Amino acid sequence: MPILPKTSVTARSGLLDHAGRPETAGTTSREPVRWQKEMQDAFRTGESLLRFLDLDPAQAPEGLAPDPAFPVLVPQSFASRMVKGDWRDPLLLQVLPRDGETRSVPGFLADAVGDLASQVVPGLLHKYDSRALLMVSHQCAVHCRYCFRREFPYGDMPRGQAGWDEAWAYLESAEGVDEIVLSGGDPLFLDNRRLERILERAAALPRLRTVRFHTRLPIVLPSRIEPGLLAMLRSLSEAKTLIVVIHANHANELDAGTGRALSGLRAAGAMLLNQAVLMAGINDDADVLADLSRGLLAQGVLPYYLHQLDRVVGTAHFETPEAKGRDLIEALRGKLPGYAVPRYVRETAGEPFKTPLSV
Ligand SMILES: *Cc1c(COP(=O)(O)O)cnc(C)c1O
Ligand code: SF4
Repeated sequence: MPILPKTSVTARSGLLDHAGRPETAGTTSREPVRWQKEMQDAFRTGESLLRFLDLDPAQAPEGLAPDPAFPVLVPQSFASRMVKGDWRDPLLLQVLPRDGETRSVPGFLADAVGDLASQVVPGLLHKYDSRALLMVSHQCAVHCRYCFRREFPYGDMPRGQAGWDEAWAYLESAEGVDEIVLSGGDPLFLDNRRLERILERAAALPRLRTVRFHTRLPIVLPSRIEPGLLAMLRSLSEAKTLIVVIHANHANELDAGTGRALSGLRAAGAMLLNQAVLMAGINDDADVLADLSRGLLAQGVLPYYLHQLDRVVGTAHFETPEAKGRDLIEALRGKLPGYAVPRYVRETAGEPFKTPLSV
């Protein structure tokens, strides 16, 4: 269930009037729409996912380390892009709990990137001068085992429309801020009715030039990119610069379904960028990263960031040394045009921007 309870609708700006047609999720009825139904059918245990992949859970090379606070969650459409019978499948490794999660490793912390210190009002992180990040949802369609926010105390986030008043008041008075990043969790996990209220409030802020989404849904649940959502985004993009930063780590995550979702977003006026996380055994290879960049370009997406893994508890088994990351970027420069080489960065608490790790 989304976190924001049903509350009265505030004054409408009129900007997003053509959202809210019957196909719009949750606007006219409480019936789950297709993507929500798909979520009901998602894999919620490692065992069921493995059986779907023709893998015997009893043969698992490592224990499945179930974490009740961060259980397995994988939509079938994402699982269908995994190679059956392959324990080392790069998509499976992103979502299957492994023994490393329970290991405590010095230097790996609950809040590795200083998110809590930069939370200026509940639900709003203001870390970098010109842009602020709103954690509008605490839910995702998939649970990525390396997630940098897997320990974030979402329970303390604002609830209801009124709960967000403080965040919007802050944005109104924060003079240097001309961009908001809608994040979470995954902002597109909100239904259209809740999203519409947020976009209306964003559209009503004159100083705001850009609305940016950080979302993994176009990749892990492409059916979320449905006509009602696209209509809202199209309206928004007439008033503000619209950027959608997706998150794919391996070319196998891209298929015809993501291609359709991404071209829908582009047609709605969004600029598309990708962020990936460098991870051992998944994409720490120059050919794999080059294929990812090529796959993204073919679907209209520019590679933006390649993140050095944030050192969050339970994720040490994904870490790749920075020296190797630098070598990989060097190798990519020989293989790809400049625009297809992502910026390799690390996030360091207290720094004014994400730290570049290669020139
Ligand atoms: C990463 C991040 C941003 C966006 O940073 P860019 O370098 O502009 O992509 C904004 N706010 C927070 C809190 C972030 O972690
Ligand atoms: S989609 Fe993003 S926020 Fe959600 S679990 Fe994955 S990495 Fe974390």
